[in-house]
Amino acid sequence: MKIQFLGTGSAEGIPVINCNCDHCTRARNEGGRLVRARNAILFSLPGYELLLDTPPDIKASLTQGQVHRIDGIFLTHAHHDHTGGLEEFLYWKKDVDLFAEPGMYESLRRENWGERLADIAFHCPFHPGMAMRFDDFFFTPFAVKHTVPCFGLAVYEGGHKTVYTSDTSNRFSNYAYRLMEGADLLIVNTPRFSPPHEDHITSTEAVELKERVGAKRLVLTHCNHHNRPHDELEEWAKGLDGVTVAYDGLKIEV
Ligand SMILES: [Zn+2]
Ligand SMILES: [Zn+2]
Ligand SMILES: [Zn+2]
Repeated sequence: MKIQFLGTGSAEGIPVINCNCDHCTRARNEGGRLVRARNAILFSLPGYELLLDTPPDIKASLTQGQVHRIDGIFLTHAHHDHTGGLEEFLYWKKDVDLFAEPGMYESLRRENWGERLADIAFHCPFHPGMAMRFDDFFFTPFAVKHTVPCFGLAVYEGGHKTVYTSDTSNRFSNYAYRLMEGADLLIVNTPRFSPPHEDHITSTEAVELKERVGAKRLVLTHCNHHNRPHDELEEWAKGLDGVTVAYDGLKIEV
């Protein structure tokens, strides 16, 4: 399976609108990997292109990433930085499936454009813990602890397991720990570098999580301007075993 990181920023992206902190100023001046669009990841599964989340930046991210095919969209939760660009799919030329938990789907339907949701995508409701079975792969959403109902995703393909934790605090169910156990790849959203940050797990805690569950590889993403700039994060990660810091455009294979 191929994974393409289309957007690796947190809620505000980097540079943040109207912010003149050192990180944002550097991002504005130097560009490159210091700039982070909001969260979106493309999982290229056998015969099925699955886009995870539709942030407000999705149009630019899909253009930048040269993505021309999407079969399904998986929505993790109804926060603006994860679903704010869904309406863009009114202009996507082909039908897409929309994997959304029923309560989340209802909250999206209450948006002012919500009555057109059925035009945008075919709703495939999911419930945490179920396996969305395809012929040669499947994925299982699981609940995580966030400020609104939110779901991570375990993807099983070709004897490999990839687990994406989504926006989450550093407190998981025993069920989630079992899904993460021995993962070939663990992808964790870490807006900030280190604790305290109660709503979200941090970069240093994600490294501890990798050790705890025995994941072979860890990718950190969804970083904000309070976290270290990409080059500094990368330097830090070099001293660790199997830790990669995502940037917009990163492609990896599992
Ligand atoms: Zn987020
Ligand atoms: Zn800033
Ligand atoms: Zn969120």
